[in-house]
Amino acid sequence: MSTKVPHYMIIGGGITGLSAAFYLKKQLEASGAPFRISVVEKSPKFGGKIHTLEREGFVIEKGPDSFLARKRPIIDLAYDLGLENELTGTNPKAKKTFIVRGRKLHPMPPGLVLGIPTQMTPFMKTGLISLGGKIRAAMDLILPKRNIAGDESLGHFLERRLGKEVLERIVEPLLAGIYAGDTYKLSLKSTFPQFRAMEQKHRSLILGMMASRKNVSEETAHLPAAIRSSVFVTFKRGLQTLVNGLVEALGTVDLRPEVGVAAVHQVDGEQAEVTFEDGHREIVDGLIVTTPTYQAAKILFELPAASQLAKIDYISVANVIMAFDRKDIPFELDASGFLVPKHEGYTITACTLTSAKWLHAAPEGKVLLRCYIGRAGEQAWPAWSDEELISKARHDINDLLGISAEPHFAEVTRLMQSMPQYPVDHLEKLVQFREELAALMPRVFVTGAGFHGVGLPDCIRQGKEAATQLADLVLH
Ligand code: FAD
Repeated sequence: MSTKVPHYMIIGGGITGLSAAFYLKKQLEASGAPFRISVVEKSPKFGGKIHTLEREGFVIEKGPDSFLARKRPIIDLAYDLGLENELTGTNPKAKKTFIVRGRKLHPMPPGLVLGIPTQMTPFMKTGLISLGGKIRAAMDLILPKRNIAGDESLGHFLERRLGKEVLERIVEPLLAGIYAGDTYKLSLKSTFPQFRAMEQKHRSLILGMMASRKNVSEETAHLPAAIRSSVFVTFKRGLQTLVNGLVEALGTVDLRPEVGVAAVHQVDGEQAEVTFEDGHREIVDGLIVTTPTYQAAKILFELPAASQLAKIDYISVANVIMAFDRKDIPFELDASGFLVPKHEGYTITACTLTSAKWLHAAPEGKVLLRCYIGRAGEQAWPAWSDEELISKARHDINDLLGISAEPHFAEVTRLMQSMPQYPVDHLEKLVQFREELAALMPRVFVTGAGFHGVGLPDCIRQGKEAATQLADLVLH
C-alpha cells in the first residue's frame, strides 16, 4: 500500500456521485476505520444535470424539476440530510394535462397511468384516439400473454398490447419526458420491467395496471403528511437544495471541481491509478465512476467490455424557460402542461406550466413556462441559436396557448448527450461488463443514470449500492 490512510475516489459529482460519496462516508465512519474520500468533477459545479437558478424571485429548474414521490431512495436521503421539511408537492388545483392532436389541446383522460388506461369509461370518451384505436387498446383485456424469453423493445411491447395509436398519441409523448427516445429501440426490461411483470401476472397490461393502483396509499406512506397526495415532489427552493445538502454533509470529503479524469489503470488487486486530464496521477484504494457511460468507456478504455458502454446512445435535449406577467396569459392556470406527439408539426415536445404546477416557482402576478425541445429523430436543434430556439418555442405556445406577449425573460438550457437510451438487451450486456470489471478491476465500481434507471431516485439508489459494495469489500 502506498498510502497509510486508504483513499477512495468518486469520479463525477452529479447526484449519483454525491450520493455514493455520502453513503460511503457514512458506512466508513460507522466502521471506525480511517479513510479519505475525494469527489472529482470535471465541470465547475456539483450536481451534474441538476441546476436550479434563482432569478428575480423565480425558482428555475434548468435540468430535472422533480421526482416520483413513491420512490424511496430520494425521500430517505432527504430525511438523512434533515431536508424533509423542504419537500413540496404539486399544486392540487393544476392536475390536468393536455395532449396535442390536430393543432388542438385535448385533455388527457382521467385514469391514465404512464399512458395505460386504468378507467375505461373516460378512455372510451377521449377525442385523442379514434374508435378503432380504442377498440384495439381494449383488446389488451382479452389478448393472451406472450412468453418472450429475452428482452423486447418498449415500443413493440406496447404496440402488441395496446396498438399503435395509443402508443404514438399518448404513451410515447408521455415517456418522451423521461427518455426522449425511440420506443422501438428502448429496452422494455430496463425501462418498464413492471409492464412485462403485469402481462405475465394478469395477462392484460390494463388489468395489471388497475391492480397496481390499489396499492398507491401504501406507496406514499413514507412521505411527510403534507405532500402524501402528490405524485411528484420537489424542494421548495429547487433541487439544488438536495445538492447543497449533500455537499454540506460531505464536510471533510475532498470536493474537487474542474478536475477531469482521463483514465483509470489497474495497479494490482487492491489499487488503481487515476490519470487526470492535466496529466497528474494518483493511486487510490477504491473507485466509483459515475459519469455518463460514453465518458466511463473512455476512462476505462483498458477494459475490453467498456466498449459496450460506448454503444449506449444519448439524446440531446434543450429547454426554453420563459417568464411572463399573469395578465399576458389568456387562460386559467389550472393545468400542469401539455405534451406534443411526433408529427404534429411543432418544434416543442412538451410545455410545463411550471408556476401553475409548482406554486413556489414564480412570484405573485408572474408566470413561468418551460418548453422542451429535442427527442429521438428530432436532433437538428443543436445547430440553432438560442434566439431561434426561443422564437420556435414562442411560435408554438402562441399557436397552442394564444400567448403572444414578449416574455419578461427567457433562459435556454442545452443538455447535450444527456438522456441515455437503454438498448434492447441492455441488462444482459451490463452483466458481461460487470463480470469483466469485477475480474480485472475488483475495486472499481461503475454506475449512474446510464445503467439501471435515469430518474433521480434511481441514481441515488445506484450511488448508494455502489458505496455499499465498495465499503463491504474494503471493510471485510
Ligand atoms: P450526471 O448528472 O450526468 O453527472 C455526471 C457528472 O460526471 C457530471 O457532473 C459530469 O460533469 C461529470 N463528468 C463527466 N466526465 C467526467 C470526467 N472525465 N471526469 C470527472 N467528471 C466527469 N430525473 C428525475 O427524476 N426527474 C426529472 O424531472 C428529470 N428531468 C430531467 C430533465 C432533463 C432535461 C434531463 C437531461 C434529465 C432529467 N432527469 C430527471 C434525469 C436525471 O436528471 C439524471 O438521470 C440524473 O441527474 C443523472 O445523474 P448522474 O449523477 O448519474 O449523472
